[in-house]
Amino acid sequence: MPQTVKAVVAMSKGAPVELVDIVVPDPGPYEVIVAIETCGVCHTDLHYREGGINDEFPFLLGHEATGRVETIGTSVTKVQPGDRVVLAWRAPCGTCRACARGRHHLCFDSRHQGSPMTLTDGTPLSPALGLGAFAEKTIVGEGACVKVDDRADPAAVGLLGCGVMAGWGAAVNTAPVQQGDTVAVLGCGGVGDAAIAGALYAGARQVIAVDLDDRKLEWARGFGATHTLNAGSGDVVQALKDLTGGFGPDVVIDAVGRPETYQQAFEARDLAGTVVLVGVPNPDMRLDLPLIEYFGRGGALKSSWYGDCLPSRDFPLLVDLFLQGRLALDAFVSERIGLDGVEEAFHKMERGEVLRSVVVNGGSTSGASTSGGDTTVTADGATGTGR
Ligand SMILES: [Zn+2]
Ligand SMILES: [Zn+2]
Repeated sequence: MPQTVKAVVAMSKGAPVELVDIVVPDPGPYEVIVAIETCGVCHTDLHYREGGINDEFPFLLGHEATGRVETIGTSVTKVQPGDRVVLAWRAPCGTCRACARGRHHLCFDSRHQGSPMTLTDGTPLSPALGLGAFAEKTIVGEGACVKVDDRADPAAVGLLGCGVMAGWGAAVNTAPVQQGDTVAVLGCGGVGDAAIAGALYAGARQVIAVDLDDRKLEWARGFGATHTLNAGSGDVVQALKDLTGGFGPDVVIDAVGRPETYQQAFEARDLAGTVVLVGVPNPDMRLDLPLIEYFGRGGALKSSWYGDCLPSRDFPLLVDLFLQGRLALDAFVSERIGLDGVEEAFHKMERGEVLRSVVVNGGSTSGASTSGGDTTVTADGATGTGR
């Protein structure tokens, strides 16, 4: 039987999101119904709302989620009802030209749900990044479900579904940071802070956090940055060279994604150094760099999509690190809200007041307590400046 549940939908470009009833169909053979437990509020949700992704309104937002498997399709083998899963927006197909060469982390054809979710009048919804998890329940393709350890706080581990994985993976998978490297991270929101944590895990001997906001630099220090640099205090490129013996960092990770920061990253890195772009630029941005510098400096200029992660490999690993106290995933959770708090969370994100607001189902922004039983805002928060 199709089910009617509450969900957060962006009806039209720029309009505040609405909490409405949607219809979730029965699962097809390779589909899974997931009862959503938590879902982080990401910049990409806001981009959808603002029409920055495409015009396929109405969008069912939310893509950084954990839940319990409720029902599985007849051909599903990866998960069972009751499993705790983190949802991944990369669900490798296994057959595209990337997957065929063993490069599943580059899959060009992620397998999402085929059965449409709709408004109660039958209007089909476009689920954000193929997931649509600001909802009590959603339907996803089997490949989007990554089973993880039951003991971990779902609000924390759900952040692996997007922003934390993107930042961590930019450092660990894309760069990849090597033991003894010096690293700078431009932009210390959720993605940047995760990159700082990843760089340290990979063995960086120095991690320099750069941001315009002293509050974010303080949070970056909490994630282990060895040095901080306020980008408004002078020449960032020179300062990064000064902090690294006059040479520049081996790896510079741009978690902002603007031409200005990219140029700083390009110019600050050491000869033969690496730049990793993980912040998402706007479509109208352009870059003007001298080609001879591009050639003469050598090294590598890389982009990091979703931290080049393989969710089935990386999510369980990072949950283990969290449970062992080696990755402070919970420090990314600034506040726990209800489904009715998403619009306000967008504004907090824009004002740079939070690292991640996390929807906990059963909770309410206006109510006293979430089902997580904890509405405390931690000291560790910053706005996510990347995806
Ligand atoms: Zn594929
Ligand atoms: Zn995201």
